[in-house]
Amino acid sequence: MALTLDQPKLRTIHLDSLESRVGNTPLLRLRRVFPNLSPSVQIFAKAEWFNPGGSIKDRAALNIIYTAIAKGELTSGKRLLDSTSGNTGIAYATFGAALGIPVTLTIPANASEERISILRVLGAEIILTDALEGSDGALMVAQEMAAASPEKYFYANQYANPANWEAHYKSTGPEIYSQTNGHVTHFVSGLGTSGTLMGVGRYLREQNPKIQIIAGQPKGPFHGLEGLKHMESAQKPPIYDENFPDRFIDLETETAHEMVRRLAREEGLFVGISSGAAAVAALEVAQGLDEGIIVTVFPDAGYKYISDKALWGGE
Ligand code: PMP
Repeated sequence: MALTLDQPKLRTIHLDSLESRVGNTPLLRLRRVFPNLSPSVQIFAKAEWFNPGGSIKDRAALNIIYTAIAKGELTSGKRLLDSTSGNTGIAYATFGAALGIPVTLTIPANASEERISILRVLGAEIILTDALEGSDGALMVAQEMAAASPEKYFYANQYANPANWEAHYKSTGPEIYSQTNGHVTHFVSGLGTSGTLMGVGRYLREQNPKIQIIAGQPKGPFHGLEGLKHMESAQKPPIYDENFPDRFIDLETETAHEMVRRLAREEGLFVGISSGAAAVAALEVAQGLDEGIIVTVFPDAGYKYISDKALWGGE
């Protein structure tokens, strides 16, 4: 069983289901891309595109759905509503289709065509919001819809829903700890909703308070690091505690792009932009160490970013 859930009934029913394949992703050692590190410093990446919906957000979305069902908040006939154009939306739409739960997503109108197409293919209802207002605008529209029709919607609200970070506390964190036989010394993660960092970080710190928890975030408010947030200028997610990380690393889009290209060619890992950013942050941590086991997360694969001209335009 992949994701550890609190509901024995669902656990039994869904043993052979798509949902049961969420989690238990491989932990890959980066072997060739960082040749000059000390032999006692190793970098590993959790390969989250192995999840059935193609990203780490399967874990959060499925736990949000299961928790809402268990609490009686997502009853039959209600629609799951949230604002997301990214991987969480794809995960809701995937498991919504698999479990027969209708899904409505509010999305800024300038979200990429690929993303909107993927969500339509999976049968989600899409409400386009003002492009100029970005993801905060989509969030406001979802909030208004939820407030206006509480009988119609279960408002999942990934930024404020504890089931988001708890998914990582229950699955990603324990997997990393056991896959490294408890020897992980540093955990490095990008910040989006912060669910990954907060959940994995809390679990690992409980096992061993010496494990360093390091957050990577875009250097400034305008960036191309899809999936990550510049916390100082964005609406702060209620699940995020800025005092939690031991250290922050600023990330630049260009450097992340370069790393994405190298990961493909030097490691055979065709990953998304936030994975490139995570590798850059992990390298920065590694360069300051004589020994250590650094674990980071590669949230998704590269297919959704092929039309990104800044990333692949020169190819
Ligand atoms: N990378 C990508 C590609 C994502 O879609 C997300 C989710 N927004 C993240 C990183 C960050 O994950 P989290 O929301 O758990 O902070």
